Amino acid sequence: LVVDGYRGEVITSPSKALRSRYREIIKEQEQLIAGLEGIKEEPCETLDGHRVQLWVNTGLMSDVMQSLDQGAEGIGLFRTEVPFLLSERFPSEQEQYAIYREQLEAFAPKKVTMRTLDIGGDKSLPYFPIEEANPFLGWRGIRVTLDHPEIFLAQVRAMIRANEGVGAFLRIMLPMVSSVSEVDEAKKLISKCYRELLEEGRKVDMPAVGVMIEVPSAVYQARDIIKRVDFLSVGSNDLIQYMLAVDRNNAQVAELYQEYHPAVLGALKQIVEAAHGENKPLGICGEMAGNPSAAILLTAMGYDVLSMNSTNLLMVKLAIRTFDLAKAKRILNKVLKMDDAKEIKLYVDGQMRKAGLGKIIRTN
Ligand code: PEP
Ligand code: MG
Repeated sequence: LVVDGYRGEVITSPSKALRSRYREIIKEQEQLIAGLEGIKEEPCETLDGHRVQLWVNTGLMSDVMQSLDQGAEGIGLFRTEVPFLLSERFPSEQEQYAIYREQLEAFAPKKVTMRTLDIGGDKSLPYFPIEEANPFLGWRGIRVTLDHPEIFLAQVRAMIRANEGVGAFLRIMLPMVSSVSEVDEAKKLISKCYRELLEEGRKVDMPAVGVMIEVPSAVYQARDIIKRVDFLSVGSNDLIQYMLAVDRNNAQVAELYQEYHPAVLGALKQIVEAAHGENKPLGICGEMAGNPSAAILLTAMGYDVLSMNSTNLLMVKLAIRTFDLAKAKRILNKVLKMDDAKEIKLYVDGQMRKAGLGKIIRTN
């Protein structure tokens, strides 16, 4: 197995050439990161003091340890399906409790965002097979767990219980939301868990609840959604795939998968306006957040939290610490007038080079 450090994907049978390219990338990355040790303890802020939170995406306990070492300020996405994928059957509430508690204890008193089970699409559990002609347009994420409330309830109970006495700030996040009714239904189930746990005499806190914006309909309804919850987080991996109708795992159409597509940038900006219009925080936890050049645009748009694979954390921090906010906003304004993704990439990367950040520009 090769884990793609850039995209966070698992590739099962890489070719010899790809394996050697990955070895090179990993070596280059290690050298780069080693050179950035000096900013580990420094805050993630622009030259003129605009602060951005740098959080991490986790799945395994090893990610947690590495993240803390890189100076992560919170967990923006704990992919709870990872332990489910490694198990031979649905983990019980108690087994989940133990897994979640480890993550919460490691990060307390920081914020820890646990996403409810996001199976379906490309992630299917061997003990819960889903056979569909179009899995990415099918039974995925919140759709599965609302149809199986017993899975959702056990998971949410385990999460809330796991934080009892730990003192982390637990945030529960819902994946693949495409309408407000899903949010209302999920919220009811979360409140039910919380009430029942109190009735059982446990000293638990109500978690913050948030929604991932990763389906185009949710972009248009971001304001209606944020009114119902405490935070939003953009899942750019899926949002780009669904906005551009490009399978995120299909090499044949990889060139069409464009983070800088003007429609994507327009949507990302619109989501900021929705969240901040209701004075609620907004993050992004797709791979785009870990791309140093894209992080400059996201900072300029006003994203409060960038959550990424921990290997990208120091590179993103370096980029943000190199620009002042006014300059980042000038770059963004220029980009928002452009109508072609390639032109935008050339321009943003050019600005990065001018700022002396050529080494951390993504080649893909
Ligand atoms: C996303 O879609 O951007 C995301 C963070 O979730 P995942 O990659 O797990 O689908
Ligand atoms: Mg997603």
